Amino acid sequence: MKKIIIVGGGIAGLSAAYYLKERTNTPCQIILLEEADYWGGKIVTERVDSLVPGDEFVVEGGPDTFVVTKPWGVKLCKELGIDDRLRGTNPKTKKTYILKQGELHELPGGLTMMIPTEIGPMIRTGLLSWFAKMRMGLDFVIPPSQVNGDETLGAFVTRRLGREAYENLIEPLMSGIYAGDGDQLSLQSTFPYLRELEIKHGGLVKGALALRKERLRKARATKEGSPPLAGSRSIFLTPLNGLVEMVDSLLQVLEAAGVELRLNTSAQTVERTANGYSLVTTCGEVISADCIILATPSFVTADLVSGFAPQLVAELRPIEYVSTATVTLAFHEKDLPRPLDGYGYVIPRRAGRRALACTWTSTKFPHRAPDGYALLRVFIGRAGQEEEIDWNDSFLSATAREEVNLTLGINTDPLFERVHRWEKAMPQYALGHPQRLKRIEEILTVYPGLAVAGNAYQGIGIPDCIHSGELAAEKIIQSFIKDL
Ligand SMILES: Cc1cc2nc3c(=O)[nH]c(=O)nc-3n(C[C@H](O)[C@H](O)[C@H](O)COP(=O)(O)OP(=O)(O)OC[C@H]3O[C@@H](n4cnc5c(N)ncnc54)[C@H](O)[C@@H]3O)c2cc1C
Repeated sequence: MKKIIIVGGGIAGLSAAYYLKERTNTPCQIILLEEADYWGGKIVTERVDSLVPGDEFVVEGGPDTFVVTKPWGVKLCKELGIDDRLRGTNPKTKKTYILKQGELHELPGGLTMMIPTEIGPMIRTGLLSWFAKMRMGLDFVIPPSQVNGDETLGAFVTRRLGREAYENLIEPLMSGIYAGDGDQLSLQSTFPYLRELEIKHGGLVKGALALRKERLRKARATKEGSPPLAGSRSIFLTPLNGLVEMVDSLLQVLEAAGVELRLNTSAQTVERTANGYSLVTTCGEVISADCIILATPSFVTADLVSGFAPQLVAELRPIEYVSTATVTLAFHEKDLPRPLDGYGYVIPRRAGRRALACTWTSTKFPHRAPDGYALLRVFIGRAGQEEEIDWNDSFLSATAREEVNLTLGINTDPLFERVHRWEKAMPQYALGHPQRLKRIEEILTVYPGLAVAGNAYQGIGIPDCIHSGELAAEKIIQSFIKDL
């Protein structure tokens, strides 16, 4: 019987265990180790009672939704039999705002993959000066760059659409996903399709227009056929009672399949042995195994393998992470000075605020708060600004309250608040990240039976992390076949 250890009980590690069990015919013993006292890693869902018995708030401390354009999230939910639990974003009020000089401006309509495709809304928007609007038009005539290689997200968008469009429109939408600095992030690792649009269609706007046409055609075709997921055309989905439903379903399957699930167990080192690997926990327990999947943040993975894989360590250590926090605030709707008529707002880096964005959760996902209540979530912390933040609850809470006061005029005390701190949580895919991944892959070929997974590599979103777990499981299964 093969013995496999998986370290890290976030969505990547849980998915790796799931796909190992699902896809192999080889009898195997799987041990999943997690240092925290709960499963799910960044996925933390809390339920908070309201004054009305039976009516609850669903508070997400980390992620609150996942995209359907990357298929692995929906696929896993279908396999787990919980796809009927998925809900889309509120179709009635789809507005998103961007902060500019203290005022909220509605995101112009007609954006496809965040790229403008309609002239009218762009002409009307107060987010950009006339100069910036004209500069964006040059995208139609600027030829695609002939440089073959990576560039930063900031450099690319500036080259195509101009600096002002980048800073006021694109940067807050795109860099926010990584809590990153777009002038450092690798285009190829974060939004590779943008460069593909440029190469294929000669410009971003032309490419986005072509995409839009294709989507409309597909939508019409789907209308005539059956919808991809009953009841929703939203590109963001989330289980009714929070993302923890995915974690709970995975755990149920893993438990039933006999996977050994161990919380409060921290891996300290991994060594290579004649037959595979041996892991030592911080309590001194030694566990040996044929194979090992490290679904931990890359800096932890580097520490774990430092005894035998110096080249891997040299590639993993430079991957930087940004710390971030979310503060959820609940109010009576009647106490708010303005209606929360959209999904929330994003804050450009140039605004100099500590907050990155504010989601109007009770509008975006109405099932997350009882009627009559408003639930808001403020994101704090981004690359290059971490030093300005005291990472304690009272500072974070004060920052969030100041943000909603300044922008939304809310100066009443919240009915409750929840602070979730995420230290070194968001990996930054800097320039050169794709090449680094290739080197990591090459180095790993020297260590059969060793695989890595998680958000440090091929994508930070939940579907990417699920897929990374799936790929790690596949790699281990392939190593069984080679051993036969
Ligand atoms: C505030 C926030 C909001 C986000 N919003 C979204 C969103 O809306 N949609 C989306 O798709 N993505 C979102 N993301 C990103 C996404 O949530 C993460 O990238 C993803 O959950 C990471 O999963 P993971 O399994 O790779 O890592 P993690 O969830 O970090 O799991 C790694 C696990 O390893 C454990 N571990 C570490 N060291 C050891 C050790 N030595 N021994 C044993 N265990 C160890 C940790 O305790 C942790 O549980 C968000 C992230 C944050 C922080």
